[in-house]
Amino acid sequence: MALCRPSLTSGLVCLCLGMTLLKAVPAWARDIIVGTEPEFNTAVTQLTPGDVLILKNGVWNNFEILFEGQGTAAKPILLRPETKGGVILSGQSNLRLAGEYLEVSGLVFKDGFTPTEAVISFRRDKDHLANHSRVTEVVIDSFNNPDRFEADYWIAIYGKHNRFDHNHISGKKNKGVTLAVRLDGAESRDNKHRIDHNYFGPRQPLGSNGGETLRVGTSHHSLTNSATTIDHNFFDRCSGEVEIVSIKSAGNVVRDNVFADSKGTLTLRHGRGNVIERNVFLGNGVDHTGGIRVINQDQVIRHNYMEGLKGYRFGGAFVVMNGVPNSPINRYHQVDNAVIEGNSIIESDHIELAAGSDQERSAVPVNSYFTRNLIAHSGIDGIFGLYDDISGIKFTDNVLIGNLKPPVDNGFTFADSTLARSKNGLLYPVDTTLQNRGVPKDLNPIAKSTTGVSWYEKPEKPVDFGSAEILEVDITAGALFAALSQVSDGGTLKLAPGTHRVSKILPVNKRLLIIADADAVIEFERSTLFEIQEGGGLHLRGVTITGAYAPDYKGNSIIRTAAQGMLSNFEVSIEDTVIRDLTVNKFFNVIIVSKGTMADRIDISGSTFQDISGSVLKLDQETDDFGIYNAEYVDISSSVFERINGPVVDVYRGGTDESTFGPHFKLTNSLISEVGAANNSGASVVLHGVQVADIHNNRFVGSASIRVNHTVAEPKTSIFNNNFKATGAPVIVELNSALPQTALVFDNTFHD
Ligand code: CA
Repeated sequence: MALCRPSLTSGLVCLCLGMTLLKAVPAWARDIIVGTEPEFNTAVTQLTPGDVLILKNGVWNNFEILFEGQGTAAKPILLRPETKGGVILSGQSNLRLAGEYLEVSGLVFKDGFTPTEAVISFRRDKDHLANHSRVTEVVIDSFNNPDRFEADYWIAIYGKHNRFDHNHISGKKNKGVTLAVRLDGAESRDNKHRIDHNYFGPRQPLGSNGGETLRVGTSHHSLTNSATTIDHNFFDRCSGEVEIVSIKSAGNVVRDNVFADSKGTLTLRHGRGNVIERNVFLGNGVDHTGGIRVINQDQVIRHNYMEGLKGYRFGGAFVVMNGVPNSPINRYHQVDNAVIEGNSIIESDHIELAAGSDQERSAVPVNSYFTRNLIAHSGIDGIFGLYDDISGIKFTDNVLIGNLKPPVDNGFTFADSTLARSKNGLLYPVDTTLQNRGVPKDLNPIAKSTTGVSWYEKPEKPVDFGSAEILEVDITAGALFAALSQVSDGGTLKLAPGTHRVSKILPVNKRLLIIADADAVIEFERSTLFEIQEGGGLHLRGVTITGAYAPDYKGNSIIRTAAQGMLSNFEVSIEDTVIRDLTVNKFFNVIIVSKGTMADRIDISGSTFQDISGSVLKLDQETDDFGIYNAEYVDISSSVFERINGPVVDVYRGGTDESTFGPHFKLTNSLISEVGAANNSGASVVLHGVQVADIHNNRFVGSASIRVNHTVAEPKTSIFNNNFKATGAPVIVELNSALPQTALVFDNTFHD
């Protein structure tokens, strides 16, 4: 009790006001203002239809709101702040609604996280649900459990006839679906909820399953109707995992939403008879941006617009899956009676048909129609991927623009029309005879600015490295440490010539660029030079670092991450830099990450690494085989690695879950000399469960072999144009498939 301490109010004044009104108990609707948690708890028990319960403006810390009442259709009971956005719920706070005809608006959740399963829940407990209730103009901003893999929902909708609209939901970084429609009991099924006009802001790749932005149902209840409508929402950079929206129930409508720069797809994972129409997917050429993935019976997919989508396989612009014969409820039901009509798929690289065909998923799509779709691509010709028999899909009246190969001989015509952008921002063929192909002219994608709330700023892109001020750092003792706390996010530290002796660990909690004049060398005396902390990122350019003065213990590093894990993904770049003499003791690594951290990118270029007793990149801390990993993209080019005991890189992504995009790994134009030969791993590069690997134009000399373990999801591995001198051939192992290994290994030369 009484945990709340509103900071901006006088509790006494508002208490008197509240008590006076409560004593009066008038028959007409009242405005009841409360300033403390006890006042709220008293007032909430006495609400009658039409009442407005008002929270005094200010920060309410550790406030778990239970808003329970019985309003009527004509007189709902309202909960709101004095002014929109004036109440901040911070610390361990949440909101539960229970009863009938309740409406909550104007609250902001930030600077904390929910101690329960959800930030906002449409139930008190499993026996007390909310119906005919509404949450509108509420903000949830980065309200994350500090443990990245402690799962929660931000919104859990139960009951029936509820509406969640015009909310601003942004920055979820911990595990768990952002918004889940729950069908646990009969009283939550066939629910007729509406989820509309919300702004779903950026969700960074989680690096694991459980990063969906919106999910309706679960496989368990997927044969029952949800009948939820999801319309006019804006999904901005929602890239948590391969499913942006996961439909796992029947009879839903997904209409008039916009997906911008979002990795993953709208997936009809379970449940039949869903209608997906008039949605707009804009990939803008971003990796892994996808469209719609179709599974199950009686799905209608019409008048959707896709442009600039780069995703492939299950993440393609348009994907029709193979099913499992007599599928268990949690696997893949056969596509039957799908209607795919009047969609425009433009400058999008992959349409996958009968995708996922394998020994288990052998039931091809049947009784389905693909008609009046418009498909245009100016670059590549082979955008259709066929993975099995597609004779169960009837193709009629489709149009291809560009040099595209149709998937079948009939049902496609070729048009030589150019495309022009219409007033609605979408591309249409100039040739008017093609008017009834692709999306209709009256499609009107919702503008980002009209979703969510007007009074809370939508997030921009993060600040760029090197975009803020430059501070000069001289060689006096402690200067680098001091400069680190002075420089702002996006700032640059420029090292003067000479030796910079660092006696403390340098905490990096902002996006920092360090550059150096010629002859600047960093020496350090602690177990690591840099520690990346929450919100931090590091670029090094033109720096020389020696490990010669590090303490004589095992396990030193140049860069490590905070030991307790981090919510925010981070980025490291090492450019034109020399790192040497990491030999004072064993296992001295250049970069080692901790469990529960994720790098968006690690880039190394034009750099030299010499005499290292550990590894260069140690990205192998997620050993639970839960499908979790530590880096999305690792890109090494034009660099030299000499006399390194461990592998240059050790990436581990265990488990067989298919929900993630990466890891991605690239190694090009580099020299790997005397690497990995003297350690137990016996490998110069270790890639376990990496989804995309590209190793080409490198020279390996006197080093251990490359080792690649394929685990799941048809990984793409190519190793070509490398020169191997006194180095074994790459070893590629299929751990979970009896089929021949799928890596492309070619044009490599081997000699003694
Ligand atoms: Ca998933």
